[in-house]
Amino acid sequence: MTDIKISKNYFEKVLSAAEVAEKRISITKQALKFFPKPWKDFWLDFEGTKIALHIESVACQCMGPQKPHEHYWIQDAKIKQLMPWKAGTKLIFEKINEKNFTLRIGK
Ligand SMILES: [Zn+2]
Repeated sequence: MTDIKISKNYFEKVLSAAEVAEKRISITKQALKFFPKPWKDFWLDFEGTKIALHIESVACQCMGPQKPHEHYWIQDAKIKQLMPWKAGTKLIFEKINEKNFTLRIGK
């Protein structure tokens, strides 16, 4: 269902219409392992702009009150501003080290 490619230092995903509408990047449980723990700050170099960032975890009951769980997002003012918000856009994250990541837009 999700089209992502992930390895130790590489994570690629495609923006969905829902993410574009909310201007935030959804991080699945699988992709969460690629990033520092939620709320832990790291640097993201987005096409030359260094952004201090963290993954946000948000409590959710979208599967009903019996199944509370978390959703994970990147939602950041600078990312909102700088990203081309278009469904189908490919995002390529690379890990330089535990505190430094890069993001570029794929073709
Ligand atoms: Zn939910």
